[in-house]
Amino acid sequence: MSGSLEIVFLASGSSGNCAALRCGGTLLLLDAGLSIRETERRLRATGASLEEVRGVFVTHEHSDHVRSAADLAVRKGVPVWATAGTVEAAGLPGPLLADIRVLPPRGEVAVGDILVQAVSTPHDGVESVCYRFSDGAGRRVGVVTDLGHLSDEVLEALADCEVLGLESNHDVELLRTGPYPTFLKRRILSDVGHLSNAAAATGLRALIGPRTRAVAALHLSRQNNTPALAGRAFEEALEGLGVQLHLEVAAPDRPSRWIAVDGEGHSCEVTL
Ligand SMILES: [Zn+2]
Ligand SMILES: [Zn+2]
Repeated sequence: MSGSLEIVFLASGSSGNCAALRCGGTLLLLDAGLSIRETERRLRATGASLEEVRGVFVTHEHSDHVRSAADLAVRKGVPVWATAGTVEAAGLPGPLLADIRVLPPRGEVAVGDILVQAVSTPHDGVESVCYRFSDGAGRRVGVVTDLGHLSDEVLEALADCEVLGLESNHDVELLRTGPYPTFLKRRILSDVGHLSNAAAATGLRALIGPRTRAVAALHLSRQNNTPALAGRAFEEALEGLGVQLHLEVAAPDRPSRWIAVDGEGHSCEVTL
């Protein structure tokens, strides 16, 4: 294994989630919530291409994460990894039609220069997971969205990653007083729903460690949150900890910067 690991969030939110991870010559996707065309377009804007993608790791069957997974496997021949429950619930094609790979019981897979660890998440999917990616030097990118609370398992797996992407879905007050129907508010606020700004801020205090260099706020709700509110919650948590880290608030409609585990992140010419 060689090279250092970096990540770019191509899209984040309930309209579609997709991130790309690169290390040495290996490029992976995390979730496939954009159309193939849009995935291609945003990858190109960040200096990568779909032809380089060696695999897609899907978190769960909700359409904002799995939209183009079957297409990527069948039409583009890209291997897709997911839990058995997600493969079934998402209706992903069988092994004769596409390269769909069920994650092993311990959830660890190596692809080229990247080691991938799946971790179970508390969400209302059938068998949802989040992922931690490591390079050959043991430097890590942990990304978790779509979870109702930070379980001990997630906290343990994602503690002290060099780069941490954490869901900051809603402001509780905006959600409570907003236009969503009661059943949906209950679902989002439940133990298997989505993480609020306040819960994310509390989580940061547990997850940030001496090795952490960058954090990203992910999966912001358009109706029940704003980038400013989520950003402020993260900034206050960082201030409370007395640390200065690179902070990114990922957007639904454009890629973030590349964020590297060694802190040498670079922005690319984003031309969309
Ligand atoms: Zn989602
Ligand atoms: Zn979900």
